[in-house]
Amino acid sequence: MKSTTDTITSGTLYIISTPIGNLEDITLRALRLLKEVDYICAEDTRVTGRLLAHYEIKKKMISYHSYNERQRIPRILQTLKEGQQVALVSDAGTPGISDPAHRLVQEAIREKIPVVPIPGPTAAIAALVASGLPTNRFVFEGFLPRKKGRQTRLKQICEENGTIIIYESAVRIQKTIEDIVKFCGNRYIVICRELTKHYEEFIRGYAEEILKNLSSRTLKGEIVLLVAGKDFKSSKDETEKLDE
Ligand code: SAM
Repeated sequence: MKSTTDTITSGTLYIISTPIGNLEDITLRALRLLKEVDYICAEDTRVTGRLLAHYEIKKKMISYHSYNERQRIPRILQTLKEGQQVALVSDAGTPGISDPAHRLVQEAIREKIPVVPIPGPTAAIAALVASGLPTNRFVFEGFLPRKKGRQTRLKQICEENGTIIIYESAVRIQKTIEDIVKFCGNRYIVICRELTKHYEEFIRGYAEEILKNLSSRTLKGEIVLLVAGKDFKSSKDETEKLDE
């Protein structure tokens, strides 16, 4: 006869994408799993609480963010090993994309716990596909370092041929565009602001021109900055198409 522990199969860790603004941007599968799992690990339980309340989902939450992930991982793994189902969400978009997830995913894999992605919104891809810049090759940079290593990273970025995707805050966007001009020259850029929200906006043009325009206005909200790859500048037809 098998002992009872033999019959316990491990739970699954679901990496669930949630909206980046518009609450309708969530898949049916994500909603079903958020209802079905035993626990939801959330970056900020108040933010996820609002999403759950909107969809009338009541669920036990475990706070999991970059400051407590080391302490929380053993508890989450134990819960999974006991056969409970766990969802991981971040405040917005896809966990693991400039949001905590990677360490937990690595540890779950090490413990042979199934990890299942539930795809959905991510600001990087939403910005890229609407930018008009080439989508066949791109590099995701996330947030640039603020001080140490920034210059080196910017120099590397400038050598990329694909479209470059950068996450940036509204307060630092001007400085980052200035740095792009300084290190990469006057590249074609697209500022994607407040994606999927009421004030969604795309500002397209050459970096120097955009900097001039920004001197008379202050940008607010969340921003993805796209920078055309190194070879794009020489392709005049491409920018003419975008400027039409
Ligand atoms: N996990 C998220 C994702 O999948 O896109 C990214 C989280 S990261 C902490 C937050 C950054 O993503 C913001 O500073 C901004 O650069 C970008 N972002 C998130 N939502 C956005 C939106 N609605 N519009 C523009 N950028 C957004």
